[in-house]
Amino acid sequence: MGLDDLRSLLAGRSIRVAASECLLGRSVRWNGEHNGDAWPRQRLEKVFTLVGICPEVGIGMGVPRNPIQLVGEASAPRVVAVDDPSLDYTDRLKGYASEVAVALDDVHGYIFADRSPSCGLAGVKVFAKDGSFERGGRGVYAAGVLAAYPDLPVVDAETLDDESVLLDFVLSVLARSGVVDRAVGLRDLVRGMLYPR
Ligand code: SF4
Repeated sequence: MGLDDLRSLLAGRSIRVAASECLLGRSVRWNGEHNGDAWPRQRLEKVFTLVGICPEVGIGMGVPRNPIQLVGEASAPRVVAVDDPSLDYTDRLKGYASEVAVALDDVHGYIFADRSPSCGLAGVKVFAKDGSFERGGRGVYAAGVLAAYPDLPVVDAETLDDESVLLDFVLSVLARSGVVDRAVGLRDLVRGMLYPR
């Protein structure tokens, strides 16, 4: 297979990959902003159809909204309002992840926004009562998605600036989608498509 063959193969397909909605340039962050320019979105859009999901908007928190944070144990954190810890969104976000999981059947990968108490894959701050924190948490919604789809290719958007990480993710998604029989040997072709010299 050559580069043109790969282009034609992908041109006729819609390989769906979910993404935190703020990564797609939609202003759904708590402060009314987005993260659409903070990662190599255009490269991924050459091969995939990106489908945005915002769990905080999904549970009705609105935009703008009060910020939330993880608290308690990093292995089983709660997610609460920064200004009022009695406002606990954990169960609603977990419930939303279960609802969304049903619709993710035709999705072959997931790109998560980093550091979010809902969407962060790893290294999210988890606060103790005294205000100290450790960076060992995973967003509550992301944890729910991964519990439903433990083998789904997932990536933290922030890491996609690394060419090698991006290629690994793309090849994992292509293999899972079944569009190519095997991703082995495709790496150089995909690199040529996504990083034209
Ligand atoms: S990180 Fe997740 S919850 Fe936060 S704005 Fe983006 S999509 Fe919504």
